[in-house]
Amino acid sequence: MTKHEALKKYYGYDSFRPGQEELVDALLAGRDALGIMPTGAGKSICYQIPAVLLPGTTLVISPLISLMKDQVASLNQMGIPAAFLNSSLTSGQYGETVAEMKRGAYKILYVAPERLLTEGFLKAVAEISVNFISIDEAHCISQWGQDFRPGYLHILDFIRRLPVRPVIGAFTATATREVREDILALLDMKDPMQMTTGFDRPNLKFTVYNDGNKWRTTEAILKEHEGECGMIYCLTRKTVEEVCMELIRAGYSATRYHAGLSDEERRKNQEDFLYDRARIMVATNAFGMGIDKSNVRYVIHYNMPKNIESYYQEAGRAGRDGLPAECILLYSGQDVVTNQFFIDQMQTPDGMDEEAGAAIREREQERLKKMTAYCLTNQCLREFILGYFGEYGDGYCGNCSNCLTHFDLVDVTETVRNILGFIRACPWRYGMSTITDGLRGKMNARMGKRGLQENPYFGSCQEIPVYQLRQILNHLVLEGYLAVTEDRYPVVRMLQRAEAFTEEDVVQMKMAREEKKSKPAFEKKSYGKNTGSWSREDADPSLFEKLRALRLSIARDEKLPPYIIFSDKTLVHMCILAPVTREEMLQVSGVGELKYEKYGWRFLEEINDWKKSEKDKK
Ligand code: ADP
Ligand code: ZN
Repeated sequence: MTKHEALKKYYGYDSFRPGQEELVDALLAGRDALGIMPTGAGKSICYQIPAVLLPGTTLVISPLISLMKDQVASLNQMGIPAAFLNSSLTSGQYGETVAEMKRGAYKILYVAPERLLTEGFLKAVAEISVNFISIDEAHCISQWGQDFRPGYLHILDFIRRLPVRPVIGAFTATATREVREDILALLDMKDPMQMTTGFDRPNLKFTVYNDGNKWRTTEAILKEHEGECGMIYCLTRKTVEEVCMELIRAGYSATRYHAGLSDEERRKNQEDFLYDRARIMVATNAFGMGIDKSNVRYVIHYNMPKNIESYYQEAGRAGRDGLPAECILLYSGQDVVTNQFFIDQMQTPDGMDEEAGAAIREREQERLKKMTAYCLTNQCLREFILGYFGEYGDGYCGNCSNCLTHFDLVDVTETVRNILGFIRACPWRYGMSTITDGLRGKMNARMGKRGLQENPYFGSCQEIPVYQLRQILNHLVLEGYLAVTEDRYPVVRMLQRAEAFTEEDVVQMKMAREEKKSKPAFEKKSYGKNTGSWSREDADPSLFEKLRALRLSIARDEKLPPYIIFSDKTLVHMCILAPVTREEMLQVSGVGELKYEKYGWRFLEEINDWKKSEKDKK
């Protein structure tokens, strides 16, 4: 079998995605390989296809129990014999799996890093032939990241005990240099083929809201996505509880996940979400690594996360099936304060000296700044993220809230003069909201006490809406006129550029044109420039619903998450091709031979029934 035949037969896909083929080729040729690909780009196939084609058993080292379980279920569905060994198995199941493994029954065996050096496992491995070891989420080996897993440090030790050194493949979505160097060194990779694929995910639409009403915005978004699955990330457990409670009160099908819940409840809630029993998952960042539910249509960040790596990883859990999905961030200044608080609380890890600990905190600080800049920028949001990872585009993606709102270049010199005048005349420093209130002439007891009314610029920007005033202030921060201190109570400070502001100076900035309300807030069409893909709108809704119902009933019978039967994307493709014969059905992306025998034929019947009933209608 060739790699292309395997791709078609088991996965039902016609071609490799960018980067996949090169990695597969390297591994098949016996060369180590490091794949750095964003979430959803398709790392699994890069090691699964070599695993299928190479002789012997492939070990996949993976940090997460939920991930292993899902991957193994998927592989078995496709007809690739696979199993996992981790702490979720009873000793009976463990023994059985090891016995099968010794028989050479599995092509792929997932194993937790902590198992590797156990006596039982070493003995069992000695009896089989291991030609290839793939390390998933390889960044867990690096102490630079927050996902560091001490167990990963045993991997090299384990490899050195094998009679023959296998080919090593390592995969991660983390692209920073330190992490990459750690992976290469700590796994002792030999002249590996290194492949970094584009981080762009054209089907994701990025939006930032900075309008001060998170709950109302959330409700509007949920209305747009009725009946679809989505996630809401919050910074703290408390916010998770509050948001989840509100959603349930408002009649939404929601569940929650954070480190404060019992293992049992976490497991249950996660399954409810994976099996579509709960449509909305409200969670802290404790949720998600290894969740590859493919039909997540939106990821809302109720709070700004701590850095862009985390944001892109979490937001990237939307639209893994390649269909349009939304990533929405609800920003407020308080989020910066909360994140800063977390950084201040960070302890220096054991075995690291204070200086190194301080360096880590400093780095976190820098990253937080970049994250904040993302929320305030007028630039294309996609461009901003890709630029952060070292990729540059042409500054306009057409699928983010900045590109989609039309920008006008506006002269704001007059307002800037008032703002700077106001700040200069203040007896001491204030935060953003006091300054905006003062400029707008908003009176309250607090104002009176601080004597702000005497400020000659009090009320000088009365006509300008708060959000615009905010944008101008943010622009002044980004442009280096003003700085916001990073204390518990951040205050605004004037920088040299503002002090030196003269009568001749002009400030222009891009401001979103006032939107006419007739336009829908969220446009679903026209995503990205070159996805070369189809979208949900291309499917007949009545057929899609029929197929989705069939999938759900099969999923219930088989006790599997629906997306493991077929992804949304596959269902959409079925609707578009509306196949009549087996051969046609096998043309559908995501329908491999075994899956056809198992389920595909039932979908074929459903499509034919639907066609008949459509004809009868006419
Ligand atoms: P990652 O591990 O990189 O986050 P996955 O391996 O889970 O991503 O793949 C994401 C999705 O893309 C899965 O649904 C997978 O089946 C699909 N996929 C991967 N490679 C291809 C391909 N060559 N053609 C079509 N779909 C693919
Ligand atoms: Zn854009």
